[in-house]
Amino acid sequence: MALEIHPIPALRDNYIYLLREPKSGAVGAVDPSLAAPVLAALHQRGWTLTHVINTHHHPDHTGGNLELKAATKAIVVGPLADRARIPGIDVAVGDGDTFKFGDEAATVYDVPGHTRGHIAYWFKDAQALFCGDTLFLMGCGRLFEGTPQQMWNSLGKLKKLPPETRVYCGHEYTQANARFALTVEPQNAALIARAKRVDALRAEGKSTVPGTMADELATNPFLRVDRPDLQQAMGAPGDPVATFAAIRKAKDNF
Ligand code: ZN
Ligand code: FE
Repeated sequence: MALEIHPIPALRDNYIYLLREPKSGAVGAVDPSLAAPVLAALHQRGWTLTHVINTHHHPDHTGGNLELKAATKAIVVGPLADRARIPGIDVAVGDGDTFKFGDEAATVYDVPGHTRGHIAYWFKDAQALFCGDTLFLMGCGRLFEGTPQQMWNSLGKLKKLPPETRVYCGHEYTQANARFALTVEPQNAALIARAKRVDALRAEGKSTVPGTMADELATNPFLRVDRPDLQQAMGAPGDPVATFAAIRKAKDNF
């Protein structure tokens, strides 16, 4: 694998991802809520940070930007549509852009819904997706600045990525998401099995990231609202957006 990926847990349940492309020596921190754990990880490995990579403006994803930039002279990359809210942004990227990270490259997708300027980064060769708070394992982000239609469109872009894509999301919400997903699809055998695997991992204090897109397609109710059985169950036959809205509302109150 030409892209090393190291999750760094931060705050209560955030993930910062430390990336390294070994040929060029490029080192990135995806969504640094804090600078200190990133600086410690860099120091421990003898690496120099070259990029801060943001998915959206929320402080639990950008809180470390300015301190990291000051300490390392890293370039801050973030969403074009939200450049005014990204601390220290140097390079703004939007839908369809290619973000070059050393010898690797990511395709950028605009994925509004959680926030209006949210983006995701898909590293094709490394088969890795950094999706912030848009897609969680077995869940999705709350709709703070978008509509169910927008979020469903955004998730639709991610759904089309290859099933082997590894999903690196912004938070360790997986166990609670599984519990909720089981209320939506109690008969889904793949979901039941995955929830058990997640419970076992969490019981050992282990992380559940990354997931795979294949597992998300099989178990994440928010990616499955185009299914007639789910639409029926949520009382909105033929209407994926209304089904999405109903599931999102139920999750908000779960
Ligand atoms: Zn957020
Ligand atoms: Fe967040």
